Amino acid sequence: MSRKYANLAERILANTMISDDSFFEGTPCWIWMGKRNSSGYGQINRRFKRGPRKGKVGTFLVHRVAVQELGGRKLTARSVAMHLCNNPLCCNPAHLKGGTQRQNVQQCVREGRHYTPFRKSV
Ligand SMILES: [Zn+2]
Repeated sequence: MSRKYANLAERILANTMISDDSFFEGTPCWIWMGKRNSSGYGQINRRFKRGPRKGKVGTFLVHRVAVQELGGRKLTARSVAMHLCNNPLCCNPAHLKGGTQRQNVQQCVREGRHYTPFRKSV
């Protein structure tokens, strides 16, 4: 892992770009410029802090890490991080909301785009 950044939050910010055409409630999206997975979500490598793989490096979804490191909110393994702006690469904590898969589906249905972007394993 890179030692260039003081912490994870700084590393995320250094790899995002402020969008000039994607907004949510008047604030721009922070677009992840790093690696992305086949579903179009940003990926970041970090060490596990706990659990059986503690100390090992794993690949995480960057918007989930952003909710916790930038937004200061906790996510459990079962909760999903929802994009209020519907931009899968966005890391702006003001655009991200932790919730359950059920709430996520309800939001999709409400907005008329019913699909399930979050797989069980993420
Ligand atoms: Zn956004």
